[in-house]
Amino acid sequence: MKFLDEFRDVETAQRLIDQIGNRCTRSWVLMDVCGGQTHGLVRSGIERELAGTVELIHGPGCPVCVTSTQSIDFAVALSLRPKTIVATFGDMIRVPGGDGSLMQARGRGGDLQMVYSPMDAVELASAKPDHEVIFLAVGFETTTPATALAVMQADQLGLSNFSIVASHVRVLPAMEAIMAMPDCRVEGFLAAGHVCSITGHDVYEPFVRQHQLPVVVTGFEPLDLLEGILRTVTLLESSRPVVDNRYGRGVQKHGNAAAQSLIETVYEVDDCDWRGFGTIADGGYRLRSRYEAFDASRKFESMTTSHHHNDRGCHAADVLSGRIKPKQCPAFGKTCTPESPLGAPMVSGEGACAAYYRFEPISIETP
Ligand code: SF4
Repeated sequence: MKFLDEFRDVETAQRLIDQIGNRCTRSWVLMDVCGGQTHGLVRSGIERELAGTVELIHGPGCPVCVTSTQSIDFAVALSLRPKTIVATFGDMIRVPGGDGSLMQARGRGGDLQMVYSPMDAVELASAKPDHEVIFLAVGFETTTPATALAVMQADQLGLSNFSIVASHVRVLPAMEAIMAMPDCRVEGFLAAGHVCSITGHDVYEPFVRQHQLPVVVTGFEPLDLLEGILRTVTLLESSRPVVDNRYGRGVQKHGNAAAQSLIETVYEVDDCDWRGFGTIADGGYRLRSRYEAFDASRKFESMTTSHHHNDRGCHAADVLSGRIKPKQCPAFGKTCTPESPLGAPMVSGEGACAAYYRFEPISIETP
């Protein structure tokens, strides 16, 4: 293992690994929901250390990876529009859509601005009243409140040249979609601490009752992850399907009421296209009618596309649903690398394929 520090102490980690090994009477299959967890597990070597004891498979928790090709194609088309700036986070710029990436659109004359927060895009719109500024808004419940706040701010400022491509997604419906897959092997979930800091962990209670498996909230540091895994296998070994919070320093039972209120004020839950999954019922949000003037899909309706592009040669759907590990993708490290990505999981800072490429020795496995 390759870590140290407060949440990375090697001796404590080894003790937890031993406890996990002692606790397991068989190998359990756990899914980490979040790309940050995937990176933590692969980077620290935990996944390798636990091989044969716990099978860790990775879920759909990279928001960049699951953003639909339609949203990217729409943003690409908007960026090529005269006097129009598309603003988004750095990770989104190289994600391929059906009509290339935003980066490639820039090469064709598209106007693209990388921002660190949705409020940066509002400021840009305020500073450039002769331009349309469109924010490509992606992310889970963690980032949705910030976009909601930006929309409210734009409304208060009376900005008529600001809008968003609303592509925020919700974690729980994606977990439901995974459980509905006929070949689903998941026996317990590691829920993402940062999402739960907004939603609370009580939102998982009905899910746990229905599916009768444990959901344990974890953080992202090695000891957080190991404690979460230990708790999950302990619950599995004692046949106790409950929600448990192992990230008490960041997550409360009912979450962040102020952030939830922001989301509730600006958005309503809606079906949503997820890359690799198709349409997930209640899987995302749309702007409420009160804020529809900031909805780019209404403002530029004629430029939207309903055409879904398959990722040719990319097995992102299998990676994001935990059916295969990235190295089992035939393209991994060959025709797909971070320099020349075929799919979003190799681009994103939270993508599973990028994590394996960066932290695991390159040896290609077969499914
Ligand atoms: S390695 Fe590349 S082609 Fe394969 S699933 Fe990952 S992103 Fe897609």
